[in-house]
Amino acid sequence: MKLILIMLAALACTTAPVTGRKQLNLVGDSTINQLGMQSYQQELAKAKLDTNPAHVELVQRVAKRLADTAEAQFHPGYQWQTTVIDDPKTVNAWCMPGGKIAVYSGIFPLTQDENGLAVVLAHEISHALAHHGAERLSRSELMQLGEAGLLAAVQAGKPGATQMAGAALGLGAQLGVELPFSRQQESEADHIGLILMAKAGYDPATAVDFWQRMLAYSKGKEPPAFLSDHPSSEQRIADIKRELPEAKAAFIAHK
Ligand SMILES: [Zn+2]
Repeated sequence: MKLILIMLAALACTTAPVTGRKQLNLVGDSTINQLGMQSYQQELAKAKLDTNPAHVELVQRVAKRLADTAEAQFHPGYQWQTTVIDDPKTVNAWCMPGGKIAVYSGIFPLTQDENGLAVVLAHEISHALAHHGAERLSRSELMQLGEAGLLAAVQAGKPGATQMAGAALGLGAQLGVELPFSRQQESEADHIGLILMAKAGYDPATAVDFWQRMLAYSKGKEPPAFLSDHPSSEQRIADIKRELPEAKAAFIAHK
């Protein structure tokens, strides 16, 4: 009996890359990737696509470099896909489990260049690589439906299940549902993201520049949606500076 319980506990656990943190995860990869695909398609159906070649080519170039590196280093086996959404007022980006990425055009004034975009996308991809959405779903009441029931409810477009699953996977800001990534998950995505961008050949020191721009931008106003539950920018910059030597070593090893 005891052995069976230990085996079940082992089955219900995954490990985050880079940090090695063990996490409760009751959702299989196949289910979570299908949920990610559903959420991606549902968001895209509502969105106006940005077809500006300068935006599309930039996002695809950065996403591909990070995705290739993620596959080589962490082997998630994702079917990567990238879309740019024409929404200049929204400072946001996300990556669903399964590798479906969306970038909102409102983020470009803050990312400024390829490195800045790499900081944001490496962070968002890291949420997916580290199973943060699955971890959140595992703690949500949706798990009462079971994996198959949950998938069926989202595929049928049932509003409650669709919104909660989307929010758990990182669409909370868009959907207006409170189910944010935890601070621990945010810090972990920062840490993994630094290593990921460095291994992809982007100088991780530019993450400090980006978050300083973000700090200046959000002074005196509401933080942008995707930052509202993130660690304070000051704390995040301090944490990133502490992790920079490890990321710089990965960057130098890449060259
Ligand atoms: Zn985040």
